[in-house]
Amino acid sequence: QSTERYAVVTGANKGIGFETVRQLAASGVTVLLTARNEKRGTDAMASLHGLGLSNVLYHQLDVQDPQSIQALANFVQTKFGRLDILVNNAGASGVVVDEDGLRALNIDPTSWLSGKATNIVQGVMITTIEKAKECLDTNYYGVKNVTQALLPLLERSTFGARIVNVSSIRAELWRIPNEQIRKELGDLESLTEEKIDGFVEKFLHDLSNDELEANGWSKMLPAYSVSKAMLNAYTRVLARKYPKMCVNCVHPGYVDTDINWHTGTMTVEEGAQGSVMLALLPEGGPSGCYFDRTQIADF
Ligand code: NDP
Repeated sequence: QSTERYAVVTGANKGIGFETVRQLAASGVTVLLTARNEKRGTDAMASLHGLGLSNVLYHQLDVQDPQSIQALANFVQTKFGRLDILVNNAGASGVVVDEDGLRALNIDPTSWLSGKATNIVQGVMITTIEKAKECLDTNYYGVKNVTQALLPLLERSTFGARIVNVSSIRAELWRIPNEQIRKELGDLESLTEEKIDGFVEKFLHDLSNDELEANGWSKMLPAYSVSKAMLNAYTRVLARKYPKMCVNCVHPGYVDTDINWHTGTMTVEEGAQGSVMLALLPEGGPSGCYFDRTQIADF
């Protein structure tokens, strides 16, 4: 039996995903670096090959595109015949930056948006319906669809598959003002995928009707927070359904990447540590848990 382990990392052309690929490959895992953009993905792979990591392969994957997901699953099937590790890392912020708002604060938007931001300016991050949908389609439905397509291959892992869902501290339940939502998301016994999808649709309905605050959704980064809270809930449902696997979610830390306009304070090396640890969990490791970096924490 092959002792080789095969991994897929989504959204891996840059940031934490790219570093996760690097660390996994450096520890001997054969890693399929995926990215939605061919050029960005192949450039990323080439730079890892330049570091001597020839065990990194590339395949296109847009987690919002069902055909792209199917093509990836077909490739994994043909190339590896199974999958041992899936890191659902791709993510979208759910906001658009109000450049006029920045100018009003005497901040030059071009320099701020190109990574010279020094701190997050709350009032200028606008949650439009379009951005919210993109965020939920990427961070929640995207993860579900990719996972669903790869599950038959993960079930064939000879090591007992590891699924890592990259979440956020923003998703911790105590941050959701609505007590009922908090309670239902925290009640693992009665959680189902249908119920979680229902919350997502209710959120989008409330956003469209300008009722987020009235219905107790988080005020800060509402779409992003909901997408990751639902991802955490999905992680628990999945872990219950597949007891032979280790399925966990992780907050990577506040990391210096494009998603937060480089306001994060940690390096990508630090940010990838949680994902890598959970991807390489030993047999019998925890499942259905939430980690704040490498430490188990409350949902
Ligand atoms: P980056 O913006 O650097 O990376 C995000 C990655 O996701 C990019 O590769 C991007 O691709 C990819 N992506 C976005 N949409 C899609 C899509 N539809 N299909 C495939 N790939 C897509 O941010 P980070 O590295 O920081 O983010 C990685 C994860 O960490 C995310 O899930 C994020 O929510 C999470 N996180 C990050 C924190 C931080 O402080 N940085 C804190 C908490 C959580 P492209 O280049 O094509 O846009």
